[in-house]
Amino acid sequence: MSSAQSPEFDAIIVGAGMSGLFQLYRLRELGLKVRVFESGTGVGGTWYWNRYPGARFDSESYSYGYSFSQELLEEWDWTEHFAPQPETLRYLNHVADKFDLRRDIQFRSKVTSAHWREETRSWEVTLEDGSRSTARFLITAVGPLSAFTMPRIEGIDSFAGQSCHTARWPHEPVSFEGKRVAVIGTGATGVQTIQEVAKTAKTLTVFQRTPNWCAPLHNRKIDAAEMARIRSDYPDIFRRCQETFACFLHTAEPRGTFEVTPAEREAFFEKLYGEPGFGIWVGNFNDILTSKDANALISDFVARKIRSRVRDPRVAEKLIPKNHGFGTRRVPLETRYYEVYNQPNVELVDLTETPIERVTPTGIRTSARDYDFDMIIYATGFDALTGAFDRVDIRGVGGERLKDKWAEGAETFVGMSVEGFPNMLMLLGPHTALGNIPRSIEYNVEWVTDLLRFMRDRGLTRIDARPEGVKAWMKTVQEVSAGLLSNDVNSWFTGVNTNVEGKQTRRISRYSGSAPAYRARCDEVAAAGYREMELG
Ligand code: NAP
Repeated sequence: MSSAQSPEFDAIIVGAGMSGLFQLYRLRELGLKVRVFESGTGVGGTWYWNRYPGARFDSESYSYGYSFSQELLEEWDWTEHFAPQPETLRYLNHVADKFDLRRDIQFRSKVTSAHWREETRSWEVTLEDGSRSTARFLITAVGPLSAFTMPRIEGIDSFAGQSCHTARWPHEPVSFEGKRVAVIGTGATGVQTIQEVAKTAKTLTVFQRTPNWCAPLHNRKIDAAEMARIRSDYPDIFRRCQETFACFLHTAEPRGTFEVTPAEREAFFEKLYGEPGFGIWVGNFNDILTSKDANALISDFVARKIRSRVRDPRVAEKLIPKNHGFGTRRVPLETRYYEVYNQPNVELVDLTETPIERVTPTGIRTSARDYDFDMIIYATGFDALTGAFDRVDIRGVGGERLKDKWAEGAETFVGMSVEGFPNMLMLLGPHTALGNIPRSIEYNVEWVTDLLRFMRDRGLTRIDARPEGVKAWMKTVQEVSAGLLSNDVNSWFTGVNTNVEGKQTRRISRYSGSAPAYRARCDEVAAAGYREMELG
């Protein structure tokens, strides 16, 4: 056996979230020797870490679960249309147990570096404790929204009370009873947290820098009879997810905003606002995310809703976004979020008027005054898409650092491969179709599995993207985002995070074309025997 065939593992998977678990399952089926390194103490990834109050799906539960196992579909009951985090974590633990996945997962194992060794055609992976392993393939299953970011505010460590980022929520129950609580951040996470904390906190002070356009979730329970109907519908549910633009159940409306009368338009908006889930975002008129005039109408509709739900008109105005239109950032789905601001125990602080100056031992100081708190919750988001890669010392051919290669923005081949980083395959890497995440995960995992099978069957041990393939894919990524209003808005969609060095300016940083088109392109690569890549 040559040294090129002697790494310890066939594949090392980084992360035991939804993608890592499924990848492990598939590679085991292939008969490969696989090790998963997971920094947490359990499986679940996003659903392991994000235990903050109110965390739940924004996609319909039954469109979010894995579809690969009929047995799993038959035995698992979802209890709500949009399941809460504890249920999802139970589900993923059930998956890990059912398929006996844990025996190949090493927990409490944070990967600190991964270096390509050309001489052995393998990756050398080092953990925080200094231990090393080698594998032919490195499969990153690190999640697009996992590297959480604390705000860069002076004095943050001086606070004497309890403080916590939502993505590092304690495993023990946290009571807000009798407490003065602050929440910083009003993205999808902040909105879910605020709704829940407001129920029991003595006082809740929300520090908002940019309001978001939120829409009602309309969650409800699923009883046994409804679950039976859903179960018999699964083939249709997953078929629809394959057909829609972003793998959600909601189908796109073929008409444009101005193809209907104002009365019809209002009725359509009203209908969408009254329906569960993302329909108002992804099933709306086909031009709301590209035409300023169309977008102004849906934005005006939602602004009127906010005004009708918030009693104090000054507070309502603060909650209405002024610097971006509806749907140009991720739409947080809410349950009585706006009504929270009618409660006497809740106060909204607009940071554009009175910015935070510092965190003090007793609370937060804005330019206007000092606030005292027992607890500060940071719902301040993630270094999205590339942050989890940047935090590991990944080096490819010739010792080139991935972080340096991506300093001006990530460059990939179909979101799964990076030129100069052979045998590194990314699940949910930058430039894959995201949308309803598990649907994208299943596709990425199947593609990677097929590739590894192809290579094994032919005795191939090295695969890399070609520069021309990367160039062409990046051109596609640019082209499919042309004309989107979201390109002109700061958010993780455009790679902006004010808390991360070097991520202050907007760039096209994700694939925003359709999932079917993405899959068609990747299928084409596979069908042609991966000849667009460099195989050896
Ligand atoms: P986010 O959308 O990036 O929101 C972060 C919030 O923190 C923003 O309101 C931001 O204000 C604020 N912030 C950040 N730094 C700040 C600072 N220094 N001072 C004051 N405010 C600051 O993050 P997220 O809410 O965690 O959501 C991220 C993504 O995770 C979502 O878009 C979604 O894709 C996913 N998610 C999904 C679910 C679900 O499916 N149920 C739930 C939660 C999250 P600015 O807007 O001014 O920057």
